[in-house]
Amino acid sequence: MRVLLIGSGGREHALAWKIAASPLLTRLYAAPGNPGIGHEAELVRLDTADHAAVVRFCRENEIDLVVVGPEGPLVAGIADDLRAEGIRVFGPSKAAARLEGSKGFTKDLCAKYGIPTAAYGRFDDLASARAHVEKTGAPIVIKADGLAAGKGVTVAMTLDQALAALEACFDGSFGQAGAEVVVEEFLVGEEASFFCLCDGTTALPFGTAQDHKRVGDGDTGPNTGGMGAYSPASVMTPEMIDRTMREIVEPTMRGMAETGAPFSGVLFAGLMISEKGPKLIEYNTRFGDPECQVLMMRLKDDLLVLLNAAADGQLAHTSVRWRDEAALTVVMAARGYPGTPEKGSVIRGVEAAAGDGVEIFHAGTAINGGALVANGGRVLNVTATGSTVAEAQKKAYAALDRIDWPQGFCRRDIGWLAVAREQAN
Ligand code: AMP
Repeated sequence: MRVLLIGSGGREHALAWKIAASPLLTRLYAAPGNPGIGHEAELVRLDTADHAAVVRFCRENEIDLVVVGPEGPLVAGIADDLRAEGIRVFGPSKAAARLEGSKGFTKDLCAKYGIPTAAYGRFDDLASARAHVEKTGAPIVIKADGLAAGKGVTVAMTLDQALAALEACFDGSFGQAGAEVVVEEFLVGEEASFFCLCDGTTALPFGTAQDHKRVGDGDTGPNTGGMGAYSPASVMTPEMIDRTMREIVEPTMRGMAETGAPFSGVLFAGLMISEKGPKLIEYNTRFGDPECQVLMMRLKDDLLVLLNAAADGQLAHTSVRWRDEAALTVVMAARGYPGTPEKGSVIRGVEAAAGDGVEIFHAGTAINGGALVANGGRVLNVTATGSTVAEAQKKAYAALDRIDWPQGFCRRDIGWLAVAREQAN
């Protein structure tokens, strides 16, 4: 098979690494990729926002399957434009990607199909949003409706914070994404990420993880795209997975099919597990980054077989097997992240630090004058497996400490909750 992978982050490096291990693969291309992905795939210069150019590339290179990593191209309709030309794609249509692209769309679907989620209101003007927030009081959650690169959500513990967040949305801080605002009830519980592979009809559970959104140890400081993750998430017991499938994922699949937008690709449910059971915080329509990295380390089966089954509507006949080990990934970020990261500092010792159950996935790296340099906020994902989360954590940090990059930083406590639970048992 000849495969084109779209994207350039740590998530896509992990996907490339796993796809490259498939006996079905004859050639893997990545656009635009990164230096780490370049070890697994041929990097191609292709403007992925130019769908006609992507179609042309697929024709010229006889691509059998396009795998779309990030949400941007999906929300822009790349899967539709490829399918319209008869090119097979793993990823949802534009209409189905609204589950991620519009929080209001998802909340309305939840209301219609009885899917447990935070109570909410949708507003397109400041005055009525403000009146609602003043009436409800804090804590309360304010969300820009559209894609805002993870920055459009404010969990407001005070009324002042909530009103400031509303003003930021309506004064254009998030561009078009903030023209409509969703105001939500504050949920209490433990968060977990739950993944399914979907083919329009069937959803196949595809692993659990927990990530760490805050930049600092002890979950302090500003939100980021994610500073680390581990899998599996112990809060997602088999019973909780069953309930999530029945109460959340299956009605979503049914709802999407009934609204004429059957969902295929990765359905990533961000959940709050409360005493009463799972509640949906939000959907994403692609793998999490860095959750994908830990899932790929634990996946026993051939990823390409699974992606093919999803693309072809064959998931009902497919199963998935996982290694017994836990996996954990630590993000190394460039100083300044999540504000303005410093670019260009030289990173040494990456290849020597990998091996023996440790993979180092590249996120924001580049080659400059033959040297590996930082080229983004999140730069490397040091990922390890172990018989327990504690062992995977120890291996990941031991490898990370062998990397010579003074301008980089990381959290030192990724996996703390799982490690504390393991010690208590
Ligand atoms: P989102 O981008 O919707 O995943 O929100 C980002 C983060 O905000 C989530 O991972 C949660 O930690 C938090 N959050 C979002 N919605 C709620 C809610 N209704 N109650 C409590 N926390 C929330």
